[in-house]
Formats: sequence, C-alpha cells, structure tokens
Amino acid sequence: MQAPPVSLPLPLPLPLPLPVLVPASEPKPEAAPETPVALESIKAPLELPVPVRLAHLGTLPDWSRLETYQRTITRSEFETALREVYAADDAAIEGLIDITDGGAQIRRWTELPSDVFELEFKPFPERPAVPKRYWRPFWALPPLTDPERPLSGISISIDPGHIGGAYAKQEGRWYQIGKDNLPVMEGEMALLTARYLRTHLEQLGADVTLVRSVNAPVTRLRSKDLRDEARAILTASSPKGSTFFPRSMIESTADRLFCVSSEIRSRGELINQRFQPDLVLCLHYNAEAWGDPTKPDFVPRNHFHVLINGCYSRSEMENDDERFEMLLRLLQRIDGYELPLAEAVANSLSRASGLEPYTYTGTYAKKIGPNPYVWARNLLANRVYTCPVVFLEPYVMNNEEVHQRVQMGDYRGLRKIGYTYRRNIYDEYATGVAKGLEDYFREVRSNQSPR
Ligand SMILES: [Zn+2]
Repeated sequence: MQAPPVSLPLPLPLPLPLPVLVPASEPKPEAAPETPVALESIKAPLELPVPVRLAHLGTLPDWSRLETYQRTITRSEFETALREVYAADDAAIEGLIDITDGGAQIRRWTELPSDVFELEFKPFPERPAVPKRYWRPFWALPPLTDPERPLSGISISIDPGHIGGAYAKQEGRWYQIGKDNLPVMEGEMALLTARYLRTHLEQLGADVTLVRSVNAPVTRLRSKDLRDEARAILTASSPKGSTFFPRSMIESTADRLFCVSSEIRSRGELINQRFQPDLVLCLHYNAEAWGDPTKPDFVPRNHFHVLINGCYSRSEMENDDERFEMLLRLLQRIDGYELPLAEAVANSLSRASGLEPYTYTGTYAKKIGPNPYVWARNLLANRVYTCPVVFLEPYVMNNEEVHQRVQMGDYRGLRKIGYTYRRNIYDEYATGVAKGLEDYFREVRSNQSPR
C-alpha cells in the first residue's frame, strides 16, 4: 500500500533552505564511475517577489531548462497528454496552465499569476522534432544483432523499493509473527527480487545498474539532520501557524523526510546524473493495513497493479517544483513510452503470478489505457526519475499465502504452493518482469531500421 501523497502546499519564505542532496557514499552504488557526480547547480534568483511552493525537500525549479523544448510538441500532443495522463481533472490545471493555438502559458510561481513561461507549440506538426532527454526510446537504440538478446544495448536501472535492514521498522515496511517466523520486510524482499531480475535482464543483453545493492540508505542525511525541515513543514500545515509540536510528531515527520523524501531524491540524483538509464524499474511489494506489526492482520486479498506517472491533483500541481517536473516528463514524451512498457510488464507478471488486478477507489490514481492492471499516479520516484519508470506493486505482504511464501525463502526450482508448483516469490516476480520487457523489445525492435 502506498501512503497518501506527502506533499503539502508549503509556502516558504525566502531565502529558501535549499536542501543539500548529495549522492550516496554508502552503499557504493554498483558500476559507479570514479568521478564524483557534478551536482546540477540550482541558481536561485537572489530574490523572488513571492513565496515559492515546494514539495517536501523539493528544489527551486529552473524554468529556463524548458527553453530547449520550444516548438517540439504540437498543441494536440500537449493537451492530450496533460488532460489524459498528467492532470487528475480540469480543476488541477485551471489558471496554472492555459492553452491557446500558439502555445501554453505556464505559471512559473503559483503565487504570482502574472509571471508566465511561454511555451510555443510546434508550428509544423509533420516536421520531426526530438526533445532533449538522456534516455533513448527503442528506435534510437543500436540495431538488434542477436535475436536471443532483445535487450542488448538497453540500459536499465533497478530501484529496489524502500531501505530495509536496520531501517525496516523506522520506515514501517516490516512485520513479524512471533520469533519462530521470518520477518516480512519490503526492503529485503525488493532487493532479493532485484538480484534475480538483474540476472534475467543481463541474460537478455541489458546493461543493468542497481540503485541500491544493500539494505542501507542511499541518502547521507538521517532523521536527526531533518528536524528543522520537519518543524517547518508542521508549522506550514498548522492552521494557526503553531511553532511548538510534540517531540514524537517532529520525530515521525523527520523519519518520513529521511526514508521517503531524502532517500528517493538521492536515488533520483544517481539515476538522472550518473546512471542515465533508458528505463527504471521500481520494485515494490504491496500491503494492506496490518495494524500492530507484531500481531498483524492478514487480508484475504492478493493483487497487483503497475503505475505510470500522472494524475496530479490540484495541490500537487500548485507546487512549483512538481508542476515543473511534470512538464519535463510531458515535454520529453515519457508517458508515450512508459505506458506500453507498463502494459507489457503487467501482462507477463499477471500471468506469472496469477494475481488479480487492484482497483483504486480514491482520487490518487486514475485508470489509464485498456489494461486493467495499469494506473497513473504521481509518486515522488516516478516523478523525479526523468526517464520512463515502470513502478510495480504486486503481491499483498499481509496476505497469508504471501507470508507463507516469504517463510519458504528463495529456494531453487519449483515447490508446491496450493495446487501448483511455483518458483520462489522473488524469482516469480523477477521472471514475470523480465518476460514483459523481453516481449516488448523483441516486438518493437524486430522492425527497427538502422538510423
Ligand atoms: Zn513499497
């Protein structure tokens, strides 16, 4: 289960406390070059006339980065992606993004309606225009030479969800039934899955990087470093502007800033600045509310869904950084590649796992495309990783069968589960994902003409 969106409209007075997000020194990411990452310098204007709205630990958007996308998208392409994928509804963009025949007028700062970024649409729709991006769509990959290796030349980063290890309890992705049972920890499960998946993808020819290869944080910051930010967030969301909060409240807000906001933003820097893959696979296991982690409630349901980025609510769109990050994805046409990838992986993993599609009931997500497993939702990871991201949520960790399969461990071969013989849960997950990518790239690259 994903927690509700964590971003709050957060008017911060300037000067902004820009968080210093540094890539990890622990653990050493795999295949990392020796040279340090050149962190993108954020040139904040010395003074802005209005408060800036940022998501938690967000950075000031540099709107000049959108200049490179001038005249690269038609009105119809822009409007279709915005309304069908990115905006939760029409109210989400009203007054923030206005569309006319010539272009889009995008408010740079929510609090300052007169300051508008003018995006010109492509005047000649038939003329090709390739937007700037580090990732390559399938037709820009080197031609396929070995049909047995349909992922050759493709760079894939695997992002095992959460941190696990010593942090599993702090991040709340943990339960254990008595000392005789193995604990169920999402971070550990995601990493085990990632190792199987890396093997499968490499056999298919892909160049694979793991965003984390141990159960430890990528970010260098910890909860204790984020207490001031936690206090600022609590103050901003307090109706009376209160500045005094119980210690436990500050600690739990700082914990969340550490293991979600800071951790995922640090992973984003690794991905966007160092790995620059053609796609990212975010591996998670779902769960439903389990109550006390030492006496968890089991649920009879066991299901699966895949997310692409989209469905920004009004309050998310009002955050200046989120609106900017959404536009980067839209202008790079990421959704057009993310959706067929998500559908291919949904088809194969639903076959491998036999799981039913999950149906959202709230407004956090919206149905996208005809595949019953695929939804659009705005999560920090699938927003700030600026390339196609397939975000996977199979299996319900507090379903009894899943608990039993975790107890069975990562055995080799097949074992009887219910009425059928199955691989261990981690390899079943990994095999399903790899097969989807194999099917997709085999199909699209078989017609690939050299360019
Ligand atoms: Zn998760």
